[in-house]
Amino acid sequence: MNNQNSSTPGSTLPKGILEIRNLKKHFEVSKGSFLHAVDGITLSIGKNEVVGLVGESGCGKSTLGRTLVGLYDKSSGEVVYQGEKLPSRYASSDFKKYSREIQMIFQDPYSSLNPRMTVREIIAEGPMIHKLWKSDEVNEKVGFWLKRVGLSADHMSRYAHEFSGGQRQRIGIARALALEPKVIICDEPISALDVSVQAQVVNLLGELKRTMGLTLLFIAHDLSMVRYVSDRMAVMYLGSMVEVGPANEVYFRPLHPYTQSLIASNPEPDPEKERSRTHTVLKGEIPSPINLKPGCRFAGRCPKAMTVCQSVDPVFREVKPGHSTACHLYA
Ligand code: SF4
Repeated sequence: MNNQNSSTPGSTLPKGILEIRNLKKHFEVSKGSFLHAVDGITLSIGKNEVVGLVGESGCGKSTLGRTLVGLYDKSSGEVVYQGEKLPSRYASSDFKKYSREIQMIFQDPYSSLNPRMTVREIIAEGPMIHKLWKSDEVNEKVGFWLKRVGLSADHMSRYAHEFSGGQRQRIGIARALALEPKVIICDEPISALDVSVQAQVVNLLGELKRTMGLTLLFIAHDLSMVRYVSDRMAVMYLGSMVEVGPANEVYFRPLHPYTQSLIASNPEPDPEKERSRTHTVLKGEIPSPINLKPGCRFAGRCPKAMTVCQSVDPVFREVKPGHSTACHLYA
């Protein structure tokens, strides 16, 4: 799926279909104390592009995805979709308006489907709310989308519990596609699935991207899967973006010491190579995301940390064409 000619970050970046500008989502945990879940993310996603978003659990990547679809209010910053600024706080009319354009596929295929609804009702709910389908064409349309995701039209009268995890995730994908959105936020869509099913779902998303012209933000923690599925890879650490670039470039020639550690700790698919490999374990404490101090957030764990890193925030800048990072090593 990689397409290294796609849009690139930094100064060479053409206008994207989705522009995220200095977006922040802070949660107040006690009076005057804020958890900086998303802390100044800027990212432009091009039309028909797949951007893979990686980082350790708790780095804010899922919060970013949920903020983009209005499930969380934005604390500050902006999100611009096709030139239109999205509201900071969604009213119910905004959900109705923008859910047609930007859909989300959730991580857990077990809890994201209503157990009391048939597959037909689950898939038809959105298009019927938006008055896209007439009632006499629901069976035909639901059957079409079920086949599109590799299921059968016969499945529409069944309930979610009658399906495997992989099949349920396909139903979730069909539900998102039925509204014919332009952008899909895929929030760890494969992490709850068996390894054997993960590749099927990833290949399906790749095929839909190619044939339907979809734009995807693919959130995951499996770096090799993200490299495979994405045109560009973005790396988050403690709520901030530390590196963005073409997926192969970030994977094989990472700039930021955190990305280098993540990739060094990623298991090799070849058991022979995996056995002979030296594993890198990140040392040091992850700082609390509550009331963060100035300086590089990775300084306490970084093997290359310098004095300046302790007190000065590194600026996110383009180091090579299309490849940006936030690190004093490249200042
Ligand atoms: Fe390491 Fe300093 Fe770069 Fe942070 S800014 S990643 S501490 S070298």
